[in-house]
Amino acid sequence: MIPTRNQRTIADPAVVRGIGYWSGRDVRVEFRGAEVDCGIVFIRDDLEGCPRIAASVANRTETPLRTNLQSGGATVEMIEHVMAALAGLQIDNCQIRVNQPEMPGCDGSSMPFVEALLGAGIVEQDAPRTQRVIRRTIRLGNEESWIEARPCCSSKTILQYELDYGSGSPIGQQTLDIVLSPKSFCNSLAASRTFVLEHEAVAFQARGLGRRATCKDLLVFGAEGPIDNRLRFPDECVRHKLLDMVGDFALAGCDLIGRFLAYRSGHRLNAELVRAVMAEGKCCKGLKRCA
Ligand SMILES: [Zn+2]
Repeated sequence: MIPTRNQRTIADPAVVRGIGYWSGRDVRVEFRGAEVDCGIVFIRDDLEGCPRIAASVANRTETPLRTNLQSGGATVEMIEHVMAALAGLQIDNCQIRVNQPEMPGCDGSSMPFVEALLGAGIVEQDAPRTQRVIRRTIRLGNEESWIEARPCCSSKTILQYELDYGSGSPIGQQTLDIVLSPKSFCNSLAASRTFVLEHEAVAFQARGLGRRATCKDLLVFGAEGPIDNRLRFPDECVRHKLLDMVGDFALAGCDLIGRFLAYRSGHRLNAELVRAVMAEGKCCKGLKRCA
């Protein structure tokens, strides 16, 4: 028997403002509480009819280096750090009203969203959270990068990531594993920032992307380490890869119970694993194991 928890939402609205890294546009995001079983839903306030986009892997579109969703003609972009904040805090039902497609980059981490959501207050709801228990090992990818879901004898979500940029890189090799909970997410992952290599940042800006983002707004790695910035953790990069996993796994719409190991995986493989896990059978509520 694997115990589950109750669903949660926020008590009051919360607002985060910032700039979209890719678009350079100012954006306002407002989080509002939502009913039991509503899930996480984005609402494009700026479009006629305020279209709704459910945060589901079924709505994910393939875009390099970020997680975007589309439903009907409406999109929301770079949602992974917002989703990580919600999932990390175990907020299951939330409406997210936005006036631009792209979420604000803020400092490149989930912490600005976490602080806003904690300030709004988290309330437990009178219904169990659905969960999916991993019953057999699923492995996707190849030797260069892979991700795996394994059964776990406990009722926990355990994440492990191995980052490998090679010994000649300022990022190098980093490995971390974590038992996911609101406390471990806030203490170990939420503040870790997204990162790019200097030549990648130069290439983005040459294409007209990220013109308002500076080396102060995220980690840009040169040959000697972060340019014009300081690390918050010695292994901040691997922590951020785990943060991205939390955000991408949230598109399952239920808690994933098991052990998840990743080697150099990114958003695409993370999403493919969610699809594969969700294709395995039914989710369950209450105290029973998945059938
Ligand atoms: Zn990220």
